[in-house]
Amino acid sequence: MTDRYAKSRDLFARAQNSIAAGVNSGIRKMEQPVPLYFSHGSGPRAWDVDGNEYIDFQIGQGALLYGHAPAGMAEAIGEQAKKGTHWAAQCELEIEVAERLLKLMPGAELVRFNNSATEVVLSAFRLARAHTGKPLILKFEGAYHGWADEGLVGFAPPADKWGDEENPSRLHPSQGVIPEVLGTFVVARWNDPAHLRRLVDHHRGQIAAIVFEPVMCNTCCMEPVPGLISTIRELCDRDGMLMIADETITGFRFAPGGAQEYLGFTPDLTILGKAIGGGVPFAALVGKKSAMQKIIDGTVVHAGTLNANPLCLASSKWCLDHVIEMGSDHPKVVFDLGKQLMAGLRALADKYGIPMRPQGPGPAFHAVMLKPGAEEGPVTEYRDYVRRHDGPRWAHLRICLLEQGVRAIERGLWFISLAHRQQDIDDALAKADAAFAKHAA
Ligand code: PLP
Repeated sequence: MTDRYAKSRDLFARAQNSIAAGVNSGIRKMEQPVPLYFSHGSGPRAWDVDGNEYIDFQIGQGALLYGHAPAGMAEAIGEQAKKGTHWAAQCELEIEVAERLLKLMPGAELVRFNNSATEVVLSAFRLARAHTGKPLILKFEGAYHGWADEGLVGFAPPADKWGDEENPSRLHPSQGVIPEVLGTFVVARWNDPAHLRRLVDHHRGQIAAIVFEPVMCNTCCMEPVPGLISTIRELCDRDGMLMIADETITGFRFAPGGAQEYLGFTPDLTILGKAIGGGVPFAALVGKKSAMQKIIDGTVVHAGTLNANPLCLASSKWCLDHVIEMGSDHPKVVFDLGKQLMAGLRALADKYGIPMRPQGPGPAFHAVMLKPGAEEGPVTEYRDYVRRHDGPRWAHLRICLLEQGVRAIERGLWFISLAHRQQDIDDALAKADAAFAKHAA
C-alpha cells in the first residue's frame, strides 16, 4: 500500500538531525500519524508535500482567520518589504494599526505591540502586579496563556495530581520552571462563580489580576456560565484587581471586537495574538489608559527589538481593515458555517453510533469524544473534560478525517475562517462521512 505521507515522513526523519525533536513547537510533534510538512495553501485549503489536499480547520492554530495567502495581504507585506523590513524605531503604520484596534476593541484605549501572545501575557502580568502592588495572579484550571513559566501554571494538570477541588493545585507541565513562580498564582475552577468568590475572598488583598480566556477555547471551547464574567468584573472592581481578557483566540473571531463584544464586557487589559496578524508574528496588549499608566510613566519595562515590526504592521493593517469592512457580516459568516459544521458532524456521529459531541459557539468548537459510560451534556470545566473526553478515540477519528482531507487540531479544536464557504462545509461533511464510517468499522 502506498504511504500517503511518505514525503512528510522523510522530511521529519531528516529534521531529527538538525531540529530538536524535529519540530519548532512541542505540540507539533503530537500530530498523528506524522507531523505534516506543507507546501502551499489558498483560502481554506492547504496542500502537504505529498500533494494531499486538506480543507483546513486547523488554519494556523487559528491565526489564519482570513485563510491561507489571502489576496492583498502578500502585496501589503511585499510593498512594505521593498521600503524596509525593520526600523526598531517609529513609523506611521504603527499608529494606523493602533487606531484600528481602538476602533474595534471595547477595552482598548491604548496599545503596545509584541511579537507573540506569550510575551503579551508576561507584560500584562507584570503591569498588573505593578499597578496594584499585589503579588498574585488568579487564573483558571485548564486555561493556556502561552508557554512561558507564568502562562502554563494549572494548564493540563494530570488527574493523579489534581488535589483539592476547592483549591486546585498550582501544577506546571514543564521542568525547569522557577519554583517560586508557582506560588504567585491562584488557580480556580472555570464556571463556578461562587467558588471563584470564595477563593478571591480567601486571598483578599493579595491578588493583582484575574486572567481568563472568555470562551476557554484551549480546553473544550467552554463558554462561561451566566454570571461568571459579571462576577469577575464585580470582584475586580471591588478589590482593585485588573480584569485581563486573553483574547488570543477569541479576538476578531467571535465578533469584530472579540469575545468582549460577543459577551458584552469591558476588561482592563486585553491580550491579542494570532488573528491580529493573520499569520505573521504579531501580538498586542491593549487596555484602559488607567491600567497602562505604569507603561506610560516608564516604571514598568516593556520592550522588544522587533516590536511593531513594519512587515507585521502591514499585515495587521490589512487584517483589521478586512474585519472593519465586513462589519456585522463577519460574525454571521463564521457562526453560520461553524454551526452547520457542528450539526453535520453531530448527525454523522449519530449515523455511525460514535459518541462525538461538538461543543462551542461555532467559529471555534471542540469535538468532545465521550468515554464509554460518560454522561451526556456540555462539558463545563477542566476536570469534567478529562473525566469524560476519550482522547485516544478522538485521535483515531482525526486520523480518519485527515486521510479524507479534513484537518482539525490534534486536541479536538476546529476553527472556521472567513475564507471558508458553504461549499467547503458541504465538502468537509461529505468527506467526514467516509471518515466516520472508517472509524466506526
Ligand atoms: N493565550 C492563548 C489563549 C493562546 O491560545 C495562546 C496560543 O495558543 C497564547 C496565549 C500564546 O500565544 P503565542 O503562541 O502567540 O505565544
